[in-house]
Amino acid sequence: MIPEIHEECGIFGVYGHTEASNLVYLGLYALQHRGQESAGIASSDGEVIIFHKGMGLVADIFSEETLARLPGNLAIGHVRYSTTGTSELKNAQPFVVDFESGSIAISHNGNLVNAQRLKRGLEVEGSIFQSTMDTEVIVHLIARSRLERIEDRIVDALSRVRGAYSLVFLTRDKLIGVRDPHGIRPLVFGKIKGGYVLCSETCALDLIEGEILREVEPGEMIVIDERGARTSHPFFPASPRFCIFEHVYFARPDSVFGGASVYQVRKRLGRQLAKECPADADIVIPVPDSGVPAALGYSEASGIPFAMGLIRNHYVGRTFIEPQQSIRHFGVKIKLNAVRDVVGGKRVVVVDDSIVRGTTGRKIMKMIRDAGAKEVHVRVSSPPTTSPCFYGIDTPLRRDLIGATHTLDEINRYLTSDSLGYMSVEGLHSCVPNEGKGYCDACFTGDYMVPLEVQDTEEQLPLFRGSVRI
Ligand code: AMP
Repeated sequence: MIPEIHEECGIFGVYGHTEASNLVYLGLYALQHRGQESAGIASSDGEVIIFHKGMGLVADIFSEETLARLPGNLAIGHVRYSTTGTSELKNAQPFVVDFESGSIAISHNGNLVNAQRLKRGLEVEGSIFQSTMDTEVIVHLIARSRLERIEDRIVDALSRVRGAYSLVFLTRDKLIGVRDPHGIRPLVFGKIKGGYVLCSETCALDLIEGEILREVEPGEMIVIDERGARTSHPFFPASPRFCIFEHVYFARPDSVFGGASVYQVRKRLGRQLAKECPADADIVIPVPDSGVPAALGYSEASGIPFAMGLIRNHYVGRTFIEPQQSIRHFGVKIKLNAVRDVVGGKRVVVVDDSIVRGTTGRKIMKMIRDAGAKEVHVRVSSPPTTSPCFYGIDTPLRRDLIGATHTLDEINRYLTSDSLGYMSVEGLHSCVPNEGKGYCDACFTGDYMVPLEVQDTEEQLPLFRGSVRI
């Protein structure tokens, strides 16, 4: 059985550059915030796929020597985080397999919602699984497809899976990117000196001085080979549902989605929050780093001066991204410290992007009070997190979500704050691109557009509905 795995991942692929694996390495560096548990790179020299992966940070896994052993003009990479139980090397990606018509490497961001059922069926038919990743289901489906071209096999396989997937595939001579029909997780298409790039966020393209062409559309497949890049929409269209939490917390602020930088969106969220939840206070401080743009917006809109009242130790990973509850509690303390000079004797507004379990907030409150603050007002630039994510963001079970189990007053008491205010769902939508249309906000509303179990999953959908050259 596949355990509950919630993966937060970053993916990156390059085609047509002599230093493909070096570029992927840099790209993964820029995407490190999307996963810090394991990383890997697979490259092709035109004949064979070679790969290297390991546990830990990109910088620790790859050296000049390992990168030199990943030759070729095309390569893909992956950074990953998953929850307890699946934190093993066998689950690190890219996942590389050999089957009758060649080898394929795959990097996946997202979570499939019918992987368990498909896996059971495949096992009954004789498939042997090496990992607990839902991604492996895709690999088995590709290997079993009776179609000839790899892109047709991929479509054949993906027609049977449901859920969130942004994928990059590497074969001997092709780079292929696919985004699920709802476009839940991001995938960006770019160019670099005669070659192409597919990656999770634009910040990774910036680092390698690539040019952003556009976002891969929901349900789109891009095949890149010696004939150039071809695009097709091989799946039945579905309503777009980009993850709104990418804007709130997950993506890097210098990335652009839907034509707006994540930074601008977060600042707008802060301004909206100031309108919705004003506070009588002397200073506005962010919970760094993710709360900084929203706190700036709150300060601008409210006229309350902005200050850095909490300092982050940048050598510690994201607090939440640590598998053990005990480490996470401890982590908050090693990660943040309050500045006595800034908060002492003040009425403080603390702006954070989200409250999940509430454990971070409670620790932060204690720190700020211990540093001498007179009053502390917590303002959150997203609505209460009330429902777990099944599409690739690591949120705990409903019973562990404080926003699902406690009232506003109870949370305020638990945090030990003087007041607490959350952004409204409408307010959140008003701040993101496209006037808030076409988003998945299930973590805040419980509105799951891809139900966990769907009846029609085994139905084969038709293959290519045409393809265009770009
Ligand atoms: P908690 O202690 O569970 O309430 O954690 C809330 C903090 O974790 C907030 O400061 C967020 O910035 C951060 N956070 C929220 N969601 C996630 C996530 N899925 N992964 C990592 N960090 C998160």
